Amino acid sequence: MLSVRFEKPYSVCYVEREIPKIKENEVLLKILCVGVCGTDVQVYVGKNKFMKFPIVPFHEGVGEIVKIGSQVKEFEVGDKVVVEPILHCGQCRPCLIGRYNACDNFACLGVQVDGLGSEYFAIDPKYLHKISKELSLEKAVLVEPLAVGVHAAKRAQVKGANVLVVGAGTIGNFTAQAAKILGAKKVVVTDIDDFKLSIAKKCNIDACVNTSNTQLKNVIQDEFDLWGADIIIDCAGAKDAFLEILNSAGKATTIVIVGNHKNPVEIDLTKIQRNEIDVKGNITYTSEDFYHAIDWMISGEVVTEDFITAVYEIKETGKAMDSIVNSSHKNMKTMIRF
Ligand SMILES: [Zn+2]
Ligand SMILES: [Zn+2]
Repeated sequence: MLSVRFEKPYSVCYVEREIPKIKENEVLLKILCVGVCGTDVQVYVGKNKFMKFPIVPFHEGVGEIVKIGSQVKEFEVGDKVVVEPILHCGQCRPCLIGRYNACDNFACLGVQVDGLGSEYFAIDPKYLHKISKELSLEKAVLVEPLAVGVHAAKRAQVKGANVLVVGAGTIGNFTAQAAKILGAKKVVVTDIDDFKLSIAKKCNIDACVNTSNTQLKNVIQDEFDLWGADIIIDCAGAKDAFLEILNSAGKATTIVIVGNHKNPVEIDLTKIQRNEIDVKGNITYTSEDFYHAIDWMISGEVVTEDFITAVYEIKETGKAMDSIVNSSHKNMKTMIRF
């Protein structure tokens, strides 16, 4: 089978490998397509803190089951599935309290361990979610990033709240849509990129604002009047954006950090302490978030119009990665077909 491997920064190799043998409790997936995520780009350029070269990339994947281990009961050959790509141990404290997305032995496919960038992949079916055959590959491949948004909106406890989402990329957009569906009073999304905002405008979000020439403080005043924002969700993962969030946050605001920050950010802790700001971390999702993501994708409650910017074949992975690196402002989600 054909497999994609990142050997060193900016270097993609295509290797022939044996199709993996499955254990009794595993299934064999034929990968149909993967989505390329910001994390994959960090891995491609060698800037992800948790990775080691060489690595088979990708964690956002859709597949079809082609073989089943003797102990597997809940799936059949021919089932179409999306992969929940965070491996967890089931033994540590976070796992035991149901927060296995923050497992002590957290391993994301394509980052800490080899990912879905191969024609076939052996996996424990507890990491799979069945999807209906009618769900298009384009929508199915967006289930994983949508699950991140669902988790973020739940962590933020958005019901009845004024919610500001900073960053209108795939994760920011889906976080804003999930917040609306989960009953937020008003949801506003900001970005400095008109391309991403133009997509957000089609997604039932209350307001989409370009902050290139205005401060977040002004957006909060204009959009939420005297009440302000109850919740600010950082989906930008950029130092300056976070410092502005902290500076604009009113007293008793909740801030949820969803974006992956590449570098440490120095902040004034008294701002958090004296203003009783609740800062929450957010990492990936649980199965329940996946369940909601699939449900809303099938029902059409979540809009995905114009999300897929480009589609490449597996042999064009290098070209796909370079094109994202060189034009990130024009890219929402790139998909690779197998
Ligand atoms: Zn991802
Ligand atoms: Zn664990």
